[in-house]
Amino acid sequence: MLNLWSTHQFWVGFLTALGIDPRRIAFSSATSEEQARQFGKGRGTVDCCYPVKCISGHYGELLMREKHRKIDLLLSPMIYSLPSCLNGHVAASLACPRVMAAPENIKAGFLKEKDVFAEHAIRYAAPLVSLADPPIVPQQLYQGLKNVIPALTLDETRSAVREGYTALEIFNARVRRRSREVLERCAREDKPCLMVLARPYHMDPGIGHEIEVELRAYGYPVLWAQYLPADADLLQWVFGEDLRAGHVRSPFDIADVWPSSYSANTNEILWGAKFAARVPWIAGVIRLASYECGMDQPTYTPVQQIVERSGTLFFSFQDLDSTKPAGALKIRIETIAYYLEKHSSAIIEAKKAACLPDCPLIRDTRRESASVSAPGTPREARDPDSIRRAWRATQGA
Ligand code: SF4
Repeated sequence: MLNLWSTHQFWVGFLTALGIDPRRIAFSSATSEEQARQFGKGRGTVDCCYPVKCISGHYGELLMREKHRKIDLLLSPMIYSLPSCLNGHVAASLACPRVMAAPENIKAGFLKEKDVFAEHAIRYAAPLVSLADPPIVPQQLYQGLKNVIPALTLDETRSAVREGYTALEIFNARVRRRSREVLERCAREDKPCLMVLARPYHMDPGIGHEIEVELRAYGYPVLWAQYLPADADLLQWVFGEDLRAGHVRSPFDIADVWPSSYSANTNEILWGAKFAARVPWIAGVIRLASYECGMDQPTYTPVQQIVERSGTLFFSFQDLDSTKPAGALKIRIETIAYYLEKHSSAIIEAKKAACLPDCPLIRDTRRESASVSAPGTPREARDPDSIRRAWRATQGA
């Protein structure tokens, strides 16, 4: 749920390194109405955000699993800040405060009549963790987990945290590489693709309502802004003009469009909008936001302007909540597909005319990616292959 959508591999790597068999790590299933009805009913607390309210169903599902699938520890970290490829280029990478505080808030719903955790003999841990600030993470996790993981030491926590970051880097590098392959194919064939600008939790089918999945069924590849390729050659091509003109200090700089760059997900949405505006084969952008999201509202106009001024099609679903109006969504998706079919060739040609020559997506499709990672990442972890080697070494494989 929520921030776990972009950090799950850190937690799997971290817990595995602590000696927990990965087969004994269980995630709740995707958000659904049935999950909320069956497990979250009557557990609601005061939060007004639909994505946060959904957590009651996730907690209930994990607490009330059948005997043979029972868990003994529910880990629900309060993630204060997030890893991001923009770290070091933006003011901060903080999580939405509602999302960050949600674990304690939702827990209250399972304590108000009786202690459901005690009833099912399940321990609960919600360590506060600043994932954008690796040096302090071991101490935070040690303090937050030492009472629920017997005999845990700071040293083993430190080494498990390192492996958690490595696992996350491997996963991110792999998905970014897939995104690059999608772009290379589109560039080679001069075909359009779409970009989703949303929060990672909109990948949850019960929160994002699978809008992008419906569009893929029309044959349009879909990229998510969180997993764009961050290779130096590509970023130099995409943002080269801006760098030369002095509008930005690095390809990851968003100060030209968003000076108060404190929120990780917001920063990535703005960066994704800039990227989409400059890459010819991204012919359309789909903006998703949850109903009355206080974090997203200030970004609606800048994001739309950045995208539309480049000639890229922009479609937005800004009021997503529990309801999935299947009929209305179908009509809108048909409309998007119609516009893409009618206009994408002209959009691609117009955007190409404004680009620098020698696009690396076409020039060398077999190149080894020179991945650019956030500052503070260990040097050996920046190249996906060396990350993989390090990871295998830790797994004895
Ligand atoms: S809807 Fe917006 S304010 Fe609410 S939890 Fe999500 S990001 Fe935060």
